[in-house]
Amino acid sequence: MSAENALEYDVIVVGGGPAGSTTAALVAMQGHNVLLLEKEQFPRYQIGESLLPSTVHGICQLLGVSEELREAGFMPKRGGTFRWGSNPEPWTFSFSISSKFSTEASTAYQVERMKFDQILLDNARRKGVEVRERTSVTDVVEDDGRVCGVHFTDADGVRHTARSRYLVDASGHKSRIHQRVGGKRLYSEFFRNIALFGYYTGGKRLPAPNQGNILAAAFDSGWFWYIPLTDELTSVGAVVRQAELERVQGDREKALSKLIDECPLIAEYLADAQRVTDGPYGEIRIRKDYSYSKEAFWRPGMVLTGDAACFIDPVFSSGVHLATYSAMMAARSINTSLRDQTQETAAFEEYEARYRKEYALFHDFLVAFYDMHQHEDSYFWNAKKVTNNTASELESFVELVGGGASNEGALVDAGSYLTERASAFEELSQIVQRPVHVEGEDRNLLQASLARSVVKAGARIQVQAVIGENADEQTPVRPGGLIPSLDGMHWTWPAA
Ligand SMILES: Cc1cc2nc3c(=O)[nH]c(=O)nc-3n(C[C@H](O)[C@H](O)[C@H](O)COP(=O)(O)OP(=O)(O)OC[C@H]3O[C@@H](n4cnc5c(N)ncnc54)[C@H](O)[C@@H]3O)c2cc1C
Repeated sequence: MSAENALEYDVIVVGGGPAGSTTAALVAMQGHNVLLLEKEQFPRYQIGESLLPSTVHGICQLLGVSEELREAGFMPKRGGTFRWGSNPEPWTFSFSISSKFSTEASTAYQVERMKFDQILLDNARRKGVEVRERTSVTDVVEDDGRVCGVHFTDADGVRHTARSRYLVDASGHKSRIHQRVGGKRLYSEFFRNIALFGYYTGGKRLPAPNQGNILAAAFDSGWFWYIPLTDELTSVGAVVRQAELERVQGDREKALSKLIDECPLIAEYLADAQRVTDGPYGEIRIRKDYSYSKEAFWRPGMVLTGDAACFIDPVFSSGVHLATYSAMMAARSINTSLRDQTQETAAFEEYEARYRKEYALFHDFLVAFYDMHQHEDSYFWNAKKVTNNTASELESFVELVGGGASNEGALVDAGSYLTERASAFEELSQIVQRPVHVEGEDRNLLQASLARSVVKAGARIQVQAVIGENADEQTPVRPGGLIPSLDGMHWTWPAA
């Protein structure tokens, strides 16, 4: 064990995937001292390549990486094309159907995760997070019933201990420490599927303008995803029922080819394609038992985000959305508690309630979606039912599968969200005639003593009187619940 005793942070984040780098950046942007520990050396391979508008235009804009994403040249994704249900013909939806996804936000991306995750991790570094790669967390440190740090092993095999006021487990489905929040990981019987996947060059594309869409094709044993990552490269995966386990266990190459032969649409799209056989895309991989939810998402001093807390199913590409949305909400809870620890229980209960609500929406919708005997109209109807939406059935479906069902302004129009909050602070500064310091794109507003006072009920009412509904655009999602603060990076109590 190293004699390095002085490792003290406000927050330690375990894992540098989308959940970890988002939480770390949004906490560091409030001026807190954050250490992020990542087991691998980036860029590292990860599955989960089809993104939703809520991630691309919501969270990524809050993080300030929109320009970098544009420059990375990722494949634009307008929506999805499905050969699914009782309709023998493929049907297509576009995000632009929903009024929530304005012109720019009506396109998401298909990404190579090695590149996407690297952009988010580098951004966290730039925001002031201390990032250590090739560093593996082995256990948590507890003191008097509270989690207060981690034990980890560095790239040279040296063991260390670091202490923090909050620990974030964002170490994904392979988390070694999730059990330390208590409760079990409950695996879903319904979604107990197996995924077998590889990469191809030269696969066919859907006709323009939908050439960047995810294509999902059902067949007797399950369904295929077909994700165009570049003009040349395609991610192809079969999701089959647990009963098919034996078929995929032996020779993976043969098993994948056989499954492709059984699905005429995918066979047609891959007719002239070659499987990639070297480099990070050269392996045919298997994932199973990936659908679960933890009984508890937090305990004093520790919170689970992203896959460490729960994951449902790949069919609507909700994984990175849930990872980054949960990360934003966990960051709010941490920022709130670091400012005032008496708010800890309320802040983390809010986090857990909202994360479970979003998870439940996708879960309940997907249970009905896996009934292959329905026409797509019935799936759209079901989306309206589970979201309790007043919009049309098709629009409700698109809002849900675009990641916009939660009514979080930050997920569907982050640009206006940031502008509204900046101008609300401006208005407030004029009311009390003291300047507010706005720090560039980080909008590090809460560091100003004036800004801190905003969360107090009196100031809130004062702001509301002047700027109207902007001060309280959100209503609680449950009785007695909290709402996002004026700066969007904390929780606060709704005005009486
Ligand atoms: C078959 C399949 C297909 C999918 N397709 C999609 C899709 O198309 N779109 C989509 O949005 N999602 C998809 N997903 C889900 C997606 O992969 C995940 O939801 C997403 O990667 C979760 O992000 P995360 O940050 O929580 O975890 P991860 O991305 O897994 O990141 C966790 C990080 O923690 C690190 N780590 C682990 N243990 C330790 C440790 N002890 N110490 C330090 N670091 C550690 C890991 O190295 C890793 O970098 C799919 C999932 C599956 C199973």
